[in-house]
Amino acid sequence: MSLQESIANIKGVGKQKTALLKRINIESLEDAITYYPRDYETNTSICSISDIVLDQVNIIEGSICNTTRSFFKKGLTITQTRIEDTTGKLYVVWYRQPYLDKKLKVGQSFILKGKVTKKYNRIQMVSPQIFNPEQYDKTYEGFIPIYALTKEIKQIQLKNVIKSALNMTHNQLKEFLPKNIRKKYQLAEYNFAIQQIHYPNNIEALDWAKKRLVFDEFLLYGLGLQWIKKQRVIVENSYTVKCDTSINPLIEQLPFTLTKAQQKVWKEIKQDLVSHKTMHRLVQGDVGSGKTIIAAMAIYYVIKNRYQAAMMAPTEVLAKQHYQSLKAYLEPLDSRIVLLVGSLTQKEKKAVYEKINQHEVDVVIGTHALIQEKVHFKKLALVITDEQHRFGVNQREKLTGKGVYPHVLVMSATPIPRTLALIVYGDMDVSIIDKRPPGRQEIKTYAVNTSYRSRIYQFLEKEIDNGRQAYIICPMVDESEKLELESVIDYTEKLKNALNPDRSIQYLHGKMATKEKTAIMENFKDGEIEILVSTTVIEVGIDVPNATVIMIENADRFGLAQLHQLRGRVGRGAYQSYCILISDSKSELTKKRMEVMVRSTDGFVISEYDLKLRGPGDFFGMKQHGLPEFKLANIFEDIAMLKETHLLAKSILKEDPSLSSEKYKYLNQKLQDFFKKNIESLAL
Ligand code: ADP
Ligand code: MG
Repeated sequence: MSLQESIANIKGVGKQKTALLKRINIESLEDAITYYPRDYETNTSICSISDIVLDQVNIIEGSICNTTRSFFKKGLTITQTRIEDTTGKLYVVWYRQPYLDKKLKVGQSFILKGKVTKKYNRIQMVSPQIFNPEQYDKTYEGFIPIYALTKEIKQIQLKNVIKSALNMTHNQLKEFLPKNIRKKYQLAEYNFAIQQIHYPNNIEALDWAKKRLVFDEFLLYGLGLQWIKKQRVIVENSYTVKCDTSINPLIEQLPFTLTKAQQKVWKEIKQDLVSHKTMHRLVQGDVGSGKTIIAAMAIYYVIKNRYQAAMMAPTEVLAKQHYQSLKAYLEPLDSRIVLLVGSLTQKEKKAVYEKINQHEVDVVIGTHALIQEKVHFKKLALVITDEQHRFGVNQREKLTGKGVYPHVLVMSATPIPRTLALIVYGDMDVSIIDKRPPGRQEIKTYAVNTSYRSRIYQFLEKEIDNGRQAYIICPMVDESEKLELESVIDYTEKLKNALNPDRSIQYLHGKMATKEKTAIMENFKDGEIEILVSTTVIEVGIDVPNATVIMIENADRFGLAQLHQLRGRVGRGAYQSYCILISDSKSELTKKRMEVMVRSTDGFVISEYDLKLRGPGDFFGMKQHGLPEFKLANIFEDIAMLKETHLLAKSILKEDPSLSSEKYKYLNQKLQDFFKKNIESLAL
């Protein structure tokens, strides 16, 4: 049985299930067995009905004592019955399972596993899983895996698919790590690790399995990074940039002086530009640390040397913002600068293409429109990508491909510690702006529940009366969750009713056309809109110094990194700014996260917490940080192992640069598979 075989070969997996599973990236048997559990259930003992614990999952064994009835109510099929054991009786109810009444006959015995709640004074088990007593004993012993799901797939279905895949591949997995490596790092055998990560015999076995699989993830990642790095030809600098910094009109005209951190980073960039190698550098700096001026300096010197430069941003609003600030910096210094975005008319675009092609412009700022086929530069020597993680590798490569080995500068607001950055951004040089410009007011942050909402509205009114503006963030517009969550549009209506009727309030969400979104953002910038109710589409880089309040509804729905980015929308001017996090969640984790936000405004601290507080399979995803996603590994907690595997990867490739020896044959195969799936997260 080949690992690459489709899961369609599993009994009971038809077209529909195949399609659903594809959505969680399970297509082959290998995908299935490497879809690791998010968690485990260990409490599997059956209890008697009299010992049931409310609001928890209970397992009971008994026989059906009432006729099972299915009926239709409010558009739902409801199935009801009662089950009894020697200690008592219990109501059981299922939804949307119309055929159950045929299955559950009076007198038959079943094991039911489900949450027990009290509703209208009646204690009931809700939608339990049903097992035959014989079946149950066999399947459910010890640890039970819990998998991360999408809405359409049931836990039990996924469990069965993975279990079948495990059985079909049992003991047939190729051990791809050579013996000496397994011995040196004390790693479990691969088949053992895969079996045990799903159905561990005990906690020790689980730890062994985990250690091995985390090691694998890191090692493949390390090998992948260094493989790519090796292949990247170090290109001679074909655009030597003379940087005469004794006179620097750009710096002289600035209304501020560069911070030490900015100066240091600028020096590093300058060294690249004048050196004999092409620049390939990442500049990392928290929101508001002042990355744009750094980009402007690099651009300035490049175009002074009669080359062209291009800068790509992920959204039109952001591109326009950059265009305006760069124009203000560069135009007085005789530079020709244009904007290239999707919303230009065909005619306008054509004119811009022509100018770029004829080198009648020096700098182009734009969105994805920059990487369209029709864009040809004459002498592109520098490409800059802002908000690195919002672009795929291909998009960034395309931009680079517009020139002949141009200098590459990538800017990221992901604040991660330097040691980690050096590994994760493997083949780039890394510069970090680690301090923000002085004189900024700390943003005051409060975490409250919804009972404070009307008081906050009063506060908003006061700020707006003082001439300020505010953001309110609601979670995404999501059909199925519409009832639970305030959707942007409904929310705006309610808000209009709650506030002074003269207030200018507008909503913004991701499903709007780009043009419309851009127009709204511009109206907000101009102060015509006082309160902007929005989904996270405003998250990136927007700079409206007059906005002083950001109120975030359902704050528990967001990752910490995202909250930090959102908060960075305020506190950009001279006014005291506020961030108000609203959540009714009682979970401990939420409380901790909110606490971190209240206590710290340092992006490094926050992202470190964020990465520590998240568990594997957490759907907030690492992509937000622009960091690679691992299934089991946690780059913060497992950083020691990350470093070890990084060194190991280096020494393996030194020993056998093409991994062609017999010893590394299977490791090589594994690496090639890994490339197919992960190329996006690898390269920068
Ligand atoms: P980000 O790193 O988030 O891209 P920006 O480049 O947009 O940050 O800078 C944020 C704000 O800080 C801008 O208004 C910019 O003019 C200002 N700024 C940048 N550098 C300094 C500095 N050295 N001193 C004071 N203000 C600065
Ligand atoms: Mg920026």
